[in-house]
Amino acid sequence: MAYPHAVAAPQLDNAKHDALIIIADNFSELDDPNLSQAIKSQMAVDARIGKQVTFLVVDSKRVILAPTGPLNRDYDDVRRYFDAAKLAINEAKASGSTKPAIYLPQASQDSRYQYALEVAYLGACQALWQPLEAREHHGESIEPITQIALFGANEQTIKAVNAIAAGQYAARDLCGTEPERMAPPRFADYCVDLFKGSKVSVEVIADIATIDKEYPMMSTVARASYAVERHHPRVVKLEYVPEGEVTRTLMFVGKGLVYDTGGADLKVGGFMAGMSRDKGGAASVAGFMKSVADFAPKGVKVIAFLAVVRNSIGSDCFVPDEIITSREGVRVRIGNTDAEGRLAMGDLLSEMKELAKTAVNPEIFTVATLTGHAARAMGPYSAYVENGPARAAHISRKLADCGDLWADGAEVSRSRREDYDFIKPRTLADDVLSSNNAASAVTARGHQFPMAFLAIVGGLDKHGTDSAQPIPYVHMDIAGSGVEGGDWQHGKPTAAGLSSLFARYCL
Ligand SMILES: [Zn+2]
Repeated sequence: MAYPHAVAAPQLDNAKHDALIIIADNFSELDDPNLSQAIKSQMAVDARIGKQVTFLVVDSKRVILAPTGPLNRDYDDVRRYFDAAKLAINEAKASGSTKPAIYLPQASQDSRYQYALEVAYLGACQALWQPLEAREHHGESIEPITQIALFGANEQTIKAVNAIAAGQYAARDLCGTEPERMAPPRFADYCVDLFKGSKVSVEVIADIATIDKEYPMMSTVARASYAVERHHPRVVKLEYVPEGEVTRTLMFVGKGLVYDTGGADLKVGGFMAGMSRDKGGAASVAGFMKSVADFAPKGVKVIAFLAVVRNSIGSDCFVPDEIITSREGVRVRIGNTDAEGRLAMGDLLSEMKELAKTAVNPEIFTVATLTGHAARAMGPYSAYVENGPARAAHISRKLADCGDLWADGAEVSRSRREDYDFIKPRTLADDVLSSNNAASAVTARGHQFPMAFLAIVGGLDKHGTDSAQPIPYVHMDIAGSGVEGGDWQHGKPTAAGLSSLFARYCL
């Protein structure tokens, strides 16, 4: 895989790098006297130093100074390093560097910045990734930077950040690629290739009759795509079993809508562009599995089911008012065909819940670009909505705390009784309503109530704290965080949630 590999660099005058990126909030006092003197001389003639990314030549070598800006206010966080690294690496690349190094001269005592070096590297990787279509057309040379040295990083850190970077790279490819190149069969092929010879096993369900029988809600979403063979759905199942004892089981269901037209409730008014990225949840989960495969954490077993499907429109498309009996036996009244992600994931969630009953310390997650409301309510942060057992175990809080340290921020939402009331049946004809008909962004509790729906069709409403067998469940809505700047058409995918999950469960 062509992501820029991290390597350890013990000394500043290491000949292995061809550009030195220095990220700091202050460049006036550096340990290295040579460098410090050179920067001081430059400061005397260039007022931009410390205010914007600046390029200078010291002893015939490229030096790039990337200021973080202030770090000490209540609202500053490690993204100051992430963002500075993105700007700096682009400058390094433009100058012709292929093997730059990142140096953080001032080790901060502030715990917010304990992973600043790792985060700076991941920021650089985020900036350097180019879309799969671009690499397939122009060649891999459009990503000329093949290696990034990290000063002061030990071997364990290098191993961890390489695992995260490799996973994020795959997640960006899977999320960010156009709907034909990454149609469900080709999404599945990418996963098969990604895990070939690795510690993660892959099973792909391609048979339509099996999907119709086992996953009736996913089949309903996929129905209009059956007319076009290359758009046929896939279920991708991934599993990692650690060496030695299993102490925890992580179980993921990812939303992989390779294209979401909205279906019969067609996205109009220009809201369809960018909907090839509606597979970001499945992409983040597959990426996390890649990180797990590379890092091989002890004690943690990880299982992932990906619902890879296209929500097309056509003569056989599903329509609102249809009542579908789910795998769990729940009769679902379709409220709006654009609320398809919860349908695509629901039956897989039910299947996962059955596995959870006999798993060691299970924690179940759905990961999805589910609602515009998550983006409206949280801005560029993921939204975690959890059930009672997950809340009691502080699963979302701990994950979000990791996100703060790894530039992968999230907000914790509550699941409330209003969410269940909102989707309750109006007659005896059905058991639950899939969605209302206003845009989620203008619907009160628009990102919280879908978690109630998922809990019901997944059968997890019977595994709350009041039950004989509580099972923790967290719904991760990454609709606000899945692409840079919330720009679904043009923003680079971020692999939202991946580094938080890795930091929380693998380190
Ligand atoms: Zn939709």
